[in-house]
Amino acid sequence: MLPTPTPHPYSIPFPAHNLSITESFVARLFDEAGIPAFIWAEPAISILGYPAESIFSGWIIPDPHLPHATTLLLQSHFPLCGDIRGCKTHKATSWCPVPDAHFHAAGAGRVNILNLYAKSRLFGSFPDPPLGRPHPRDEYYMVTSDSRIPTAEEFFRGWTVSSRGRQSERLYPVKMLRGGRYVEGVVRLRLRLRGRRVQGGEGEEEEGLVMGEFERWGRELDWLGRMCVDERNGGLGFEDIEEPFRGFVRGRVELGVEEGEGVVGERDELGLEVLRERLMWRDRVLEALGRGVS
Ligand SMILES: [Zn+2]
Repeated sequence: MLPTPTPHPYSIPFPAHNLSITESFVARLFDEAGIPAFIWAEPAISILGYPAESIFSGWIIPDPHLPHATTLLLQSHFPLCGDIRGCKTHKATSWCPVPDAHFHAAGAGRVNILNLYAKSRLFGSFPDPPLGRPHPRDEYYMVTSDSRIPTAEEFFRGWTVSSRGRQSERLYPVKMLRGGRYVEGVVRLRLRLRGRRVQGGEGEEEEGLVMGEFERWGRELDWLGRMCVDERNGGLGFEDIEEPFRGFVRGRVELGVEEGEGVVGERDELGLEVLRERLMWRDRVLEALGRGVS
């Protein structure tokens, strides 16, 4: 049984007009409650240069902390949406899978949706982030104000007007995955769903959901690959991605793999199969060296 948290002394208007302020508020709320959380999806990759406006806030929460995180948001006046599976606004504003907790305000703010996702569903093989600011050399996490990320103005000159870019140092630090790890996470999701497709035996609705997600990760990889290849984009490059994921993403770009184009499906399948085998061998070698499997 979780202890009942006391209401927080500060509050935020939600829906919000500024995603960065919402994120900073939520990051502080979670850190102070001992919940190691980080942002993901469009709001995170837009910081790395993805050219899309983010109108929702997406969070990854380690599974045991989900009930506590949900309670804290309720106490901070974030309104829980009653239609978690069928919400049309959620579907219209993001490609993300159905969230584990979905807050949705009516109103004129630009950001009126906030979603929580159980970490095991999306980035289960990664360690939890630390509370507060990660070490500058943390292999997995960084803050959204990390000096290595170009600012929106720098993206504006070279790439796109709608990327968020590096966030302000003046706001409470918000955590996200480092770019290369984010890509690795998306490739792992694609690989995992491919396994489920190959095995088959799902019900029709379940199969539809699996296919929808499989396609989402493919489209996201299209974008991430384009960001890596564009030299003007300093937010993400192939060198940020560890092998064997780097080889997979580079191969996808070089072969011109784009989601939803007939013949390309076969090339992509082949790439995933090669990656699966390389990962299997890598894990065997690590095991033999006594370093455990990632
Ligand atoms: Zn909703």
